[in-house]
Amino acid sequence: MTLLIATHNQKKAAEMATILAKRFPLLEIKTLADFTNSPEPEETGTSYAENARIKATSAFNATGSLSIADDAGLEIDSFGGEPGLFSKRFGGEETPFPEKMAMILDRMKEAQESERGARFRCAVCIAWNGSNGEMEIESFEATCEGRIAFEPSGNGGFGYDPIFFLPELNCTMADLTAEQKHSISHRGKVLKLAGDWLEANLPHLI
Ligand code: IMP
Repeated sequence: MTLLIATHNQKKAAEMATILAKRFPLLEIKTLADFTNSPEPEETGTSYAENARIKATSAFNATGSLSIADDAGLEIDSFGGEPGLFSKRFGGEETPFPEKMAMILDRMKEAQESERGARFRCAVCIAWNGSNGEMEIESFEATCEGRIAFEPSGNGGFGYDPIFFLPELNCTMADLTAEQKHSISHRGKVLKLAGDWLEANLPHLI
């Protein structure tokens, strides 16, 4: 059986593929890069779960394959939870991440340790062909709590990882190895929930 990871973000696809392939070695894991003209739907949802559903259902409708998509964002407490759903578009969609992170650090330059609370939130949606021939979906969500660092650190991960500080580990998400990141990250946690569900339901999915 094929499991299609519905994202055009190669680094995210690699993280999801690593986590899922380890747990489901018998599944043939594909990404949208394996399909020509694969859809890239607009993320018009008003929640992470809605955006994950838009991505998973669009991939399912285009390919008929069991599809899984995520939607994630960085929520900064002192910004009222922003950039949140707009994390990809923050500071301009094409703006390189070092610049986006510099904008955040600049806006927070006066913020003390106690004012730097933040979290990554991640929703996952699985879409499949239900027994009555209609598409069915299941959704999951998880968070990873941290702080906004005073300066970027690390070369691992992607996106905002270099400024996401993990107090218990005394380093940023980008300082971790891929395996360490997956063991504590929002994406690792939500894929654990989705994986538990898949494990229990895979025999019934077409
Ligand atoms: P989306 O889920 O692709 O819409 O991601 C939203 C934004 O959050 C993108 O700019 C990503 O680069 C960023 N992002 C998503 N997941 C992570 C992560 O695990 N670490 C750092 N940044 C992330």
